[in-house]
Parts: sequence; structure tokens; C-alpha cells
Amino acid sequence: MEVTRFAPSPNGSLHLGHAFSAIVAHDLAVAAGGRFLLRIEDIDGARSRPELAQEFRDDLAWLGLSWEEVPAQSSRIDHYEVAAATLAAMGLLYPCKCTRADLAGTQGIYPGTCKADPPLPGTAVAWRLDVAQALARTGPLNWIDALAGEQAARPDLAGDVVLVRKDADTPASYHLAVTLDDAADGVTLVTRGADLFEATHVHRLLQDLLGLPVPRWHHHTLLLDDSGTKLAKRRGSPSLADRRRAGEDGLALAQALRTGQMPGGITLSAPLHSVA
Ligand code: GLU
Repeated sequence: MEVTRFAPSPNGSLHLGHAFSAIVAHDLAVAAGGRFLLRIEDIDGARSRPELAQEFRDDLAWLGLSWEEVPAQSSRIDHYEVAAATLAAMGLLYPCKCTRADLAGTQGIYPGTCKADPPLPGTAVAWRLDVAQALARTGPLNWIDALAGEQAARPDLAGDVVLVRKDADTPASYHLAVTLDDAADGVTLVTRGADLFEATHVHRLLQDLLGLPVPRWHHHTLLLDDSGTKLAKRRGSPSLADRRRAGEDGLALAQALRTGQMPGGITLSAPLHSVA
């Protein structure tokens, strides 16, 4: 049975891009006679605002969607720790003490500083995946995007990503938590924005290392604001909650998003249901 999900992080109100994402995931499940799940990705302790989870449910209901809610990430910390210990026992994690400032100018690809020169014991560290070693173990991997077709996994493009964060409140990184959760929730079609396309290379590698089932993916078109930039919580795009409280018709909005009739000022990064 097809299982899709919408997995918002409660660090800000949802906007039209989230509505579109939820509708795509919902409609794909419904079309296949499957299940549509809601999972609150509240692993980012410092930035999570618990009250937003209810706001998100109210937004989805206003859009006319129905869903099954699965456990939030904060209830699955043990699960993440076990997986991290498994990867560590395989010799695939190394400690890293680098700060954001240390990494300025590296464009997100870790230069391997702490791999070459391990931090002293007692230092606060994050744990990074040694992607070269991991790939030597798995060999080449592929994955399937429902829109873009079969992809050769290139986790090397992201470099040695963090899997266990330095911050004790946030033990797992997005990559580790989302991969484990999608497997635990039985997700068969991971539906999310094209901005997360590259992350899937890393998730595919983690699935192989941890012996998890391999879903398919559907990376959808993004909604852009009038400056051509992806809508973002932090830039103050109008929130769904604001629209809902102002009395806008949520069902009509959902129908407009489904048919590509974007509200004023919003454009799509690529035609509906094509690759961004
Ligand atoms: N929690 C992520 C976000 O809000 C989405 C994760 C995903 O869909 O893989 O952006």
C-alpha cells in the first residue's frame, strides 16, 4: 500500500509552499488508495515551538486534508541513538569539533579537518559520516524519483554530513532522523520539495548501511515569491494560519494550488508535476 507523509518542523508557521507539499503528498496517497501521514519533526530542541503542532493540524484540516498522525521525532530519540551506535560500531562515524565559524567558506562540504586531526577527548563533538568509507562498503547505489526517474546516488556531493549533533538537546541530525522515521512509519513514497533532492543521496546511503527498506521519492516543484526565491518561514511569507484566521476559504485555496493557479505574486520553479 502506498504511504506518503508531510513532515513539517514546528519552528515557524506553515506557508503556501507547505500547503502545496502537504496536498501533493495527500493526493498521491489518496489516488493510490493509500495512507497519508503527518509527522511533526520537532527534533530541533532550541527552535521547536510545541504549540505550532496544533496550528499545523488546524491548517491541514482547513485545507480539507485528512491524515493519520505518527509519533513526533522527540519521542524517537532512543531509536536515533541505537542507529548512530550501529554506524559507529561499523567504524563509519568520526568526531568533529568544528564550529559554524570554522566552516565558513566551505560551502557546506566538510573539508575533513577533524578526520585528519581528531579532537582531544572531552571536547564537545558532533559525529560525521565518513562517506568515502561508507560508499566503499555499500558500492554504487541507485534511487528512484517518480518525476526525475532513476538516479545514481551521489552522497559524496554532500561530503561528510553530521549525523549526531553536538547539541545534546538535538542528538540526531535531520538526515539520520528523517531516514529512520520514514522507515519506521512504513513510508513508501517520500514526497517533499525539490530543494531536498540532494539530501536523498545521503538518505539512500544511510538506508543501505542500516538495512532499511528503500522507498521511492517524489521531489515536487517549489513555490517562489515575487523575487523568484523559494518561500521560507523566516522571510515572513504570509502564513496559512494568517490566511485561515482572516477567513479565507481553505478548500478553494487547496483547489487553486492543485491546479497550478497560484495566488498573487507566487510562481512555480517548474511546471506542475515536473522536475524542478
Ligand atoms: N522537516 C523538514 C522541513 O520542514 C522536511 C523533511 C522532509 O520532508 O524530508 O523542511
